[in-house]
Amino acid sequence: MKIAFIGLGNMGGGMAANLVKAGHDVSAFDLSPDALARAKENKCAVFDTVQGAIAGVDAVVSMLPNGAIVDAVYGADVIGHAPQGALFLDCSTIDVDTARKVTAAAEAAGYAMVDAPVSGGIAAANGGTLTFMVGGTDDAFARAEPILAAMGKAVIHAGTSGAGQAAKICNNMLLGASMIATCETFKLAEKLGLDLQTFYDISSKASGQNWSMTSYCPVPGVGPQSPADNDYQGGFATALMLKDLKLAMEAAQSVDADVPMGQKAAALYEAYANSGAGGMDFSAIIKTL
Ligand code: NAD
Repeated sequence: MKIAFIGLGNMGGGMAANLVKAGHDVSAFDLSPDALARAKENKCAVFDTVQGAIAGVDAVVSMLPNGAIVDAVYGADVIGHAPQGALFLDCSTIDVDTARKVTAAAEAAGYAMVDAPVSGGIAAANGGTLTFMVGGTDDAFARAEPILAAMGKAVIHAGTSGAGQAAKICNNMLLGASMIATCETFKLAEKLGLDLQTFYDISSKASGQNWSMTSYCPVPGVGPQSPADNDYQGGFATALMLKDLKLAMEAAQSVDADVPMGQKAAALYEAYANSGAGGMDFSAIIKTL
């Protein structure tokens, strides 16, 4: 297929390269010359306008920083300019309302569109092992699935338009709260005189077990290799966790949902990011406890 890729940053760069490896003809657009240079190295054709990149394509994939940018790019340069019949796949993490609004505008102009945010960080984007959670019609999902499968290990239809974004922020709200709970638990265990490896051996096989503990342990030297073993570098940045928690709080407010643990996690991550730690892995919040 001929696919345009818009937004080839930390995540999009590797994703576009995986589409090329799968045999697709990828045309790239990004505002950053560095991102375009990397795209060229990865055998994408590079363009200096969105409209140049989308000419003649079967599909447009985007991986952009936020909802305002997604809305602006699709509104100004994609909807009404891409060939009729092209499929749009927005993989950015954005708010549910904007995802629905952009899809509705695309559909009104005769295009199919899915929201397809990802779980997994830069390593998964480079390695083609992302998990995609997809919102859209059955027909749009069926068309999107093979394209997404070239960039990930799992592609799950979450529901209608916006459902992918809803699943993403619900998952990450749970992750943010469970990471802080795991961090404070290890600190309490330490203060109570427990050996942390011994506590891990017990809790990882008891009812406190959770992903933040057994797949991403925030304590250096305990559990599998994680950013904690690399002085909290790499991994999933605190600033991105904060972004997702803010989206979750907005979404909760929009439907009048009571999310006290999510609210607390958002406040703690906001304070940590404001202390200058936005670039640290999100498990580094253990240092504040
Ligand atoms: P990034 O900042 O590295 O990349 C975004 C890219 O978009 C940049 O190259 C930027 O130049 C480009 N861009 C910005 N405005 C543009 C425009 N108007 N037109 C074209 N290009 C434009 O960000 P990232 O880490 O790749 O994240 C992208 C998305 O993926 C975000 O929505 C983020 O929340 C989500 N996400 C990131 C991670 C992660 O670990 N980094 C994990 C899951 C989801």
